[in-house]
Amino acid sequence: MRKASQLGELRLSGVSRAYGGHLALHPLDLTIRGGEFVALLGPSGCGKTTALNCLAGLLPLTSGEITMDGRRVDTLAPEKRGFGMVFQNYALFPHLTVRANVAFGLKMRRVSKAETRRRVDDVLDLVRLREHAHKHPGQLSGGQQQRVSIARAIVMEPPLVLMDEPLSNLDAALRLSMRSEIRRIHQEFGLTTIYVTHDQEEALSLADRLVVLHAGQVSQIGTPAELYEHPADAHVAAFMGYRNLLTLDLTAVEAAEAVAEGRGLKVRGTVVGGVRPRPGDTATVAIRPEDLRVAEGDEQPIAEATAEIVEYHGRVLHVEAVTAHGDRLHLRSAGTVRPGDALRVAVDAERALVFTDADTAALDD
Ligand code: ATP
Repeated sequence: MRKASQLGELRLSGVSRAYGGHLALHPLDLTIRGGEFVALLGPSGCGKTTALNCLAGLLPLTSGEITMDGRRVDTLAPEKRGFGMVFQNYALFPHLTVRANVAFGLKMRRVSKAETRRRVDDVLDLVRLREHAHKHPGQLSGGQQQRVSIARAIVMEPPLVLMDEPLSNLDAALRLSMRSEIRRIHQEFGLTTIYVTHDQEEALSLADRLVVLHAGQVSQIGTPAELYEHPADAHVAAFMGYRNLLTLDLTAVEAAEAVAEGRGLKVRGTVVGGVRPRPGDTATVAIRPEDLRVAEGDEQPIAEATAEIVEYHGRVLHVEAVTAHGDRLHLRSAGTVRPGDALRVAVDAERALVFTDADTAALDD
């Protein structure tokens, strides 16, 4: 099978976009290598779609430039960029068959009938829809329709495919299977893909690299493992499964560790970020549920709390406990815990991350 036309490198330099006076996307620098799968991840309103639309040429840039293998592309009209686009609402032509939908772009480009047939067959095989080629979109499931829209984008052999929340209209089971389909198609066709999502699981499972955006600014760029192990700020931590986010005051700072206290909680954690905190600073302490546990023996707990919700998940229990001051803690327990039990909750200092440089008030966005 022919593959997507190979892209060496796509470079965004200082790309920004303002609506009126409001900067929805702060200057963004990003280099994407050919064959990479990059996810733009962040909560609603963080600027993901704005960034994607700037790339696609649907929105003019307020500043900056975009180059593809050194060639300027932000000055080109969308159709001249030749990027593939896959949207949440499949945007198929309802009156055309699957084959005609996929062939549409080739027809517009006056590609010969024989070549069109061959290329359409190839991509329909790739998305496993060859036997549905004669049907109309209305006769297909949501997942199948989304595969048609992917086929339609990649049949053009684009140097870059842009996907905007392509799975959000599908039910949970279909999302999972389409996720692995998208990854497989990306690899088999040798695509370079930029994928917008607010779903961190989707981003972590699909992407080679993630760009986490918050309020129009990049919080962090890195591989899933880098972000998961070393979140740069509390916003990234929140996205990477640190469900326990406690806003506390620092009472002591010693080398790489700090002690944060408040509302009956006292946590020793590891300081993250370039700014050296001082006692009295407000901090966000981030802890993953799997690192928070019932204290053993005379171990120093971070808090006492009452188990409220206990869910059985195979070998471990997922427990939600509430402190006397109303802080909600998510933890795991290998031993028996029942709703109403009084728990002493503990964490290892290297597993509690202390962030002081994030705008913590915005964490509830
Ligand atoms: P979502 O996941 O909800 O689509 P997003 O991360 O894609 O969110 P954008 O759609 O890029 O976010 O929006 C970023 C910011 O720009 C938001 O504050 C939004 O309100 C604002 N915005 C987006 N489009 C416009 C517009 N046409 N005019 C004015 N403001 C806009």
